[in-house]
Amino acid sequence: MIRIGCHLSSSGGYLAMGKEAKSLGANTFAFFTRNPRGGNVKPMDVEDANALCAFLKGNDIGPLVAHAPYTYNLCSDKEHNRVFARNSMAEDLQRLEYLPGNFYNFHPGSHMKQGSEAAIEMIASALNEVMFEGMHTTVLLETMAGKGTEVGRSFEELKAIIDRVNFQDKIGVCLDTCHVSDAGYDIKNDLTGVLEHFDAVIGLQRLKALHVNDSKNPPGSHKDRHERIGEGTLGLETFRQVVNHPYLRTLPMILETPQEETKDYAKEIALMRSLEETKGEEIHENRDGKDQ
Ligand code: FE
Ligand code: FE
Ligand code: ZN
Repeated sequence: MIRIGCHLSSSGGYLAMGKEAKSLGANTFAFFTRNPRGGNVKPMDVEDANALCAFLKGNDIGPLVAHAPYTYNLCSDKEHNRVFARNSMAEDLQRLEYLPGNFYNFHPGSHMKQGSEAAIEMIASALNEVMFEGMHTTVLLETMAGKGTEVGRSFEELKAIIDRVNFQDKIGVCLDTCHVSDAGYDIKNDLTGVLEHFDAVIGLQRLKALHVNDSKNPPGSHKDRHERIGEGTLGLETFRQVVNHPYLRTLPMILETPQEETKDYAKEIALMRSLEETKGEEIHENRDGKDQ
C-alpha cells in the first residue's frame, strides 16, 4: 500500500494532525514546522508530541515529512537572513527530536546572484552547524524548479551540497514531481531514465520522499506552479507510473496541489490509491527511520 498524504495545518497541535490525516485516508502527512512565512513558534508541547507518536504507531501512519518555512534562505546575500534561517532550522531540528524518525524537508535556497557555487558552500556549512550527532531526523533537500536564482535545480547541485555535509547518514532528497519537470527532467516520457540519472548522480538510496504535484507548465519552464493530479502537463499516466514504480512506490508521497480546503485532499488521496496496481501483501520493504 502506498504512503500518501498532504500538508496539514499544525494550528490545532500535533495529535490533531494525526487524527485529521486518518480521517482523510492518509498514512503520511506534511506540516510546516512553524508559520510558512517564518517567525516565532509556540512553546513545545511534549505531551501532545508523545500523543501523536503513539497515534501514528497505532494507526500505521508515517514517516512524516515536516517542511521548513519558505522564508528560510541559508544562502541569502544578507547576513541577517542567513542567520535567521540557520537559527530557526537549528530550533526546528531540536523540536523534531520529540517526533523521532521522521523527515525534515527544506528548499536549499536562492543564491541572489552570488552564484550557485558560493551558495552550495553556504548551505552545506549551515547544515553542518545545525545538524548534530545522534539526531533522529533525516534532513531532505528538495529538488527545485529553478525559478529565479534557486539552488537545487539540478541533481548535480544537490549532490554537491550532500557531499559537503558531515552527517552522511542523516541527509537525503525529497523529489517534487512538479519541480523536476519544471527544471527540465522529462518524467512524463522517461521516468525511469530520470531516476537512473538521479541514481548515477546522487544515488537512489538518498531518495527518501516525494512531493506529488502536477504542473501548470511544460518541462523546463522553471515556473513552479503546482496543479491538481491529472489536471496539468504531467497528466494522470505519469502519476500511475510514479505510484507503481519499483524505485518510488515505498516512499512517502505528499500532495501539495491547489485545493480549496484540506478536506478536499481526501478525494485526491483516493485517486492516487486507485492508481496502485499491486496492492497489499507483497510489498513489505523496510522503511527508513520508522521505529527509531
Ligand atoms: Fe517545498
Ligand atoms: Fe514541494
Ligand atoms: Zn513548488
